[in-house]
Amino acid sequence: MTIYNRCGNSGVLLPKVSLGFWHNFGGDAPFERSRAITRFAFDNGITHFDFANNYGVPAGSAEQTMGRLMDEDFRPYRDELFISSKAGYLMWDGPYGEWGSRKYLMSSLDQSLQRMHLDYVDLFYSHRYDPNTPIEETLQALVDIVRQGKALYVGISNWPLEQLRLGAKYLREHDTPLLIYQGRLNMLNREPIEEGILDFCREEGIGFIAYSPLAQGLLTDRYLSGIPADSRMAQEHFLTSDKRTPELLAYLHELEQRGQANGRTIAQEALNWVLEQKGVTSVLVGASSVEQLKNNINTILS
Ligand code: NDP
Repeated sequence: MTIYNRCGNSGVLLPKVSLGFWHNFGGDAPFERSRAITRFAFDNGITHFDFANNYGVPAGSAEQTMGRLMDEDFRPYRDELFISSKAGYLMWDGPYGEWGSRKYLMSSLDQSLQRMHLDYVDLFYSHRYDPNTPIEETLQALVDIVRQGKALYVGISNWPLEQLRLGAKYLREHDTPLLIYQGRLNMLNREPIEEGILDFCREEGIGFIAYSPLAQGLLTDRYLSGIPADSRMAQEHFLTSDKRTPELLAYLHELEQRGQANGRTIAQEALNWVLEQKGVTSVLVGASSVEQLKNNINTILS
């Protein structure tokens, strides 16, 4: 069984499971744990690591962790890695530190490269659509970033379908085809399917990578019997305890039973469901331990 999928109709193959650095890899996380998870991922064929300028606490520190890992472990393997970053959300003070201007995207990517100790990223995304910047300005900045050699491919994340259509057309007409769309897709959130984004990507030969495929941990056994102190939900920030409803627990028990019949854990059921959707290239998982990641790739990357 191959562990890689072709990304749309491009020349790029991505692992069915990719690793995201949003949580658990910042300056507030133990470096040796981040290192162990990253090394385990790469050693098991996860060649795609996903960042954004603002990942980690403090913002930017996940990319700094990657910079240290490049120096200490990964430099000899640079050509075996597919590293992405993004800009769109608030990163620094003043009028140039967020959204979609050329000024922001170009400065932000330069900062990301410095933090990660890289000459280029493989993929650079517009992290969100900016309704107040002309769409051509954002798109042309992406094109020029590729022309400058600072990114090999471009991606779009979280844009609505209508703007995605315009973006794909503009990029194609400027010889920088849109490689991939990054959107939230999991068993509890099916918007990219309902809104026609996944179909559009498939029809246009654009890859699709699903973020938060485990709904930030809800679609695992993590919260079956309470809220562990070291969990994302315990922080009550991006994942709040009101999501742990009786309906969710009933759904998880159903998934657990279905999983037992298939020889899979809840997390594996959830990831396989996403990967079964036509047009999905990869699931972009997070992990706070090697064990979690091992569990997630088992039955998929083996
Ligand atoms: P997931 O849905 O995979 O959630 C990951 C969390 O689930 C882990 O941190 C862990 O929680 C828990 N978990 C994972 N595996 C297991 C397991 N086997 N058993 C029990 N618990 C488990 O994804 P994320 O929400 O972390 O997002 C993944 C990536 O997607 C990000 O790192 C980022 O790269 C990207 N992303 C992009 C966005 C965008 O706007 N483009 C937005 C959000 C994410 P715990 O930490 O509590 O242990």
